[in-house]
Amino acid sequence: MDYLGKLQAVVSDIVGPYIILGDFNCNPNDKNSPCGKVLRDFIDDCDFALYDRCLPVDSYTFVNDAWHTTSWLDHCIGPRLLLGLVDHCEILYDSYNSDHHPFVVSVLMPDCNSVPSSVGCDELCITCCSKLPKIVLNKVSPASVKLLQASILGYLQDINLSKFDVLCCINAACDNSLHRTEIEELYSHLTTCLVNAVNSSLTYHTSPSEGQKVMPGWNEYVLDVKEAASDAYVLWHQ
Ligand SMILES: [Zn+2]
Repeated sequence: MDYLGKLQAVVSDIVGPYIILGDFNCNPNDKNSPCGKVLRDFIDDCDFALYDRCLPVDSYTFVNDAWHTTSWLDHCIGPRLLLGLVDHCEILYDSYNSDHHPFVVSVLMPDCNSVPSSVGCDELCITCCSKLPKIVLNKVSPASVKLLQASILGYLQDINLSKFDVLCCINAACDNSLHRTEIEELYSHLTTCLVNAVNSSLTYHTSPSEGQKVMPGWNEYVLDVKEAASDAYVLWHQ
């Protein structure tokens, strides 16, 4: 409870979109867990959404070797408005580096440069996400990482930093419009560089059937029925 309060204090200072990913030590999907209920209430109170609700109810991220039991303790939550940006959620069951399995979430990041400043942040997140490359992290190979690094280095080396006066500006309260434009240009170089590098080395073509897609209206109309059906299946299976 204490930590959820601290978490709320931390995120309330964040300007712009964010998601929260980590070990919450409970499962808000488990209707019988008192601790899960506390997290569920926290999510509702903050107008958050549980982004991993699209995963099967018998998912788990933690294996207790002593008791041979499994628990779903790691979750991804964030503002309800940004639910549409979460493209894919997956637990990597074939990774054994710790007693927790890695939780992979791919998020469609907005590209702020291509949108007029009059557009609000939430709107921006939803309108420009389709232009960005999608990375499937568990398919990234060491060779593609090398390619990515080489591509980033090549691009950065081509930028002529000597033409950017702003890099020598030491006025903390500077309002020189030329300097502002140069900062925007440098920022745009970085984002273009990363997008190009990812596009040329880390993008994979996935079929629509692969992975869990967030379906509009799913949580509102289908989720409860699906949970009841999954619970009934588990009962029947025991
Ligand atoms: Zn300046």
